[in-house]
Amino acid sequence: MKKALSNMCGECERDFRPGEIVYYAWIENRTFCGKCQVKLAPVIKDWEPRLVKKGGESIG
Ligand SMILES: [Zn+2]
Repeated sequence: MKKALSNMCGECERDFRPGEIVYYAWIENRTFCGKCQVKLAPVIKDWEPRLVKKGGESIG
């Protein structure tokens, strides 16, 4: 699994925890937490799971 490039949810702005599985949306170019992924699933179709690593960069 690819590493998450963002360390914050693009929707609720919550900081991700190390080891958390998050969801990158190509169409938005943003990364979302699991809760927001469920909420956005009806409108965004293409998701890529990403793993949050400790001390990840805050870009993307
Ligand atoms: Zn969220």
